[in-house]
Amino acid sequence: DTSVHVEVLEDYITDFNQLLENYGLKCVYHAHISVGELHLRPILNLKDAAHIQLFHDIALESAKLVKKYKGSLSGEHGDGRLRGEFIPLMMGDRNFELIKQVKKLFDPEGIFNTEKIIDTPPMNSFLRYEAGHKSPEFDTFFDYSNEGGLMGLIEKCNGSGDCRKTEITGGTMCPSYMATRDEMATTRARANVLRELLSRKDLKNPFDQADIYKVLDLCLSCKACKSECPSSVDMAKIKAEFLQHWYEHHRIPIRSLLIANISRINSLGMLFPALFNWFATAKLTSSLLKRMLGFATKRSIPTLGKTTLRKWAGRNLESLNTALPPDAPEVVLYVDEFSNYNDSALGITAIRLLNRLGIRILIVKHPVSGRTYLSKGLLKKSRQIARKNVEILSSVVNSERPLVGIEPSAILGFRDEFPELVGKDMIGLAKELAEHCMTIEEYLDNAFEKHIFDNSLFTKEKARIKLHGHCQQKAIASTEPTMRILSIPENYSVQEIPSGCCGMAGSFGFEKEHYELSMEVGELVLFPAVREADTDALVVAPGTSCRHQIGDGTGRQAFHPVEVLYGALL
Ligand code: SF4
Ligand code: SF4
Repeated sequence: DTSVHVEVLEDYITDFNQLLENYGLKCVYHAHISVGELHLRPILNLKDAAHIQLFHDIALESAKLVKKYKGSLSGEHGDGRLRGEFIPLMMGDRNFELIKQVKKLFDPEGIFNTEKIIDTPPMNSFLRYEAGHKSPEFDTFFDYSNEGGLMGLIEKCNGSGDCRKTEITGGTMCPSYMATRDEMATTRARANVLRELLSRKDLKNPFDQADIYKVLDLCLSCKACKSECPSSVDMAKIKAEFLQHWYEHHRIPIRSLLIANISRINSLGMLFPALFNWFATAKLTSSLLKRMLGFATKRSIPTLGKTTLRKWAGRNLESLNTALPPDAPEVVLYVDEFSNYNDSALGITAIRLLNRLGIRILIVKHPVSGRTYLSKGLLKKSRQIARKNVEILSSVVNSERPLVGIEPSAILGFRDEFPELVGKDMIGLAKELAEHCMTIEEYLDNAFEKHIFDNSLFTKEKARIKLHGHCQQKAIASTEPTMRILSIPENYSVQEIPSGCCGMAGSFGFEKEHYELSMEVGELVLFPAVREADTDALVVAPGTSCRHQIGDGTGRQAFHPVEVLYGALL
């Protein structure tokens, strides 16, 4: 937390780098460079006695260096436990003595903020680990080789507290904290509990601890921590891993099995979709169903389309493709389970849009995306699904013919979870495939950039759009391509709602014990912004569960970006 005058910053950094070089160390720099403020984090292993000593030595030498440049050792934060012992050095013994006397006047018993600033113990004492600490190693379902094992990922949490963002500061991490303002609902608390409890040596299976289950229960698996936490603590991955281990000793709840297998249920429902929809929406039957399954009665159940996307494509795709020139660019459309059963009308619109833009579409037989299994921590099944998807799609997808997905949570699994889940023998293949997998917005953005189509195909009428990005899209990809493609019609203006997670997070918001929290998350920014939007503004959300949440929370219909673009075609 050092700060020196910007005019001497360069010299100070040179000296500091020399100091590190003398110790053969590297450093992570965070900077508020315009004001000469640096957060310097030498890379040390604080489980190693020699490095624990180095921790102190380097801190002391940096304090001397800051003093040399007449800077401040605590440029932005308090002195606290970490820098308290260096205050006498920084301000001189006499001044420090006066401060001590003032403190004593107000706090003769020494009960306020003990051992901070005054009488501070050495900064390398009372650390998280004793020297020589060995973290346990576990057999895991996900691959953690880039993170030093499961414990390595958990231990990456450095306690910075960036997961205590609020709706005022913006960002997405961490929605459960934003809504509850309870430390136990932060990513940090989850990491702390996991680190402590999984390290217990007295248990045969450290995963079999209800306290871990409890602290992870409110995690929405939104993935925001993967991108917004400075240490990339991916709690959604850890939660899924934990649940699979938990289920080794506990029965998988029926509700979780139903959610995971929803595409099978929907495929049966498609035998009589009208009857299924009546059953799901009629007041009495719907309420009975929700009560039986443990869903919130205030929720609406997602209904089925009139036909499946696959059936429709089977009847229409060939003739649509035939009308295109032989050298038309090609994509493989990923028919995820949501677009196939519930949002088949959207899937059809996506096909029509791509076709009108001159793009040939291939649809191949492949399994579901596995998102519903992943979200319930059923990683054994998710792995089978991921492997099958990678095996099948690798043979048809390449840089000239990318895999394009409508539902972000489904297609982004190829880039996020699949390479870490498929197993060692398939990692290379999964990573290669991941490079050619994209959301439909990313593909259209790219195609527009390459002049595969231009904006003369679209209306010149005005429209205003309010966009809510999907959490996983924000964490793994970006909302920028969505913003850009929605601006292709020249008089469309797009504004992104500074919302974090919508609160639905797949099935989370349907579950009766999570319903209130889900709605509270929605009420932070998203619902008020949608309610305030002019009635003629289009509310857009690429995620199927976000659109459902917007409907349930505000009564307003939200559209997928492809529906807006298709509607804008001349
Ligand atoms: S989880 Fe990330 S953001 Fe939260 S305290 Fe840990 S390191 Fe900081
Ligand atoms: S996945 Fe989302 S809800 Fe879970 S800890 Fe990370 S930010 Fe919080």
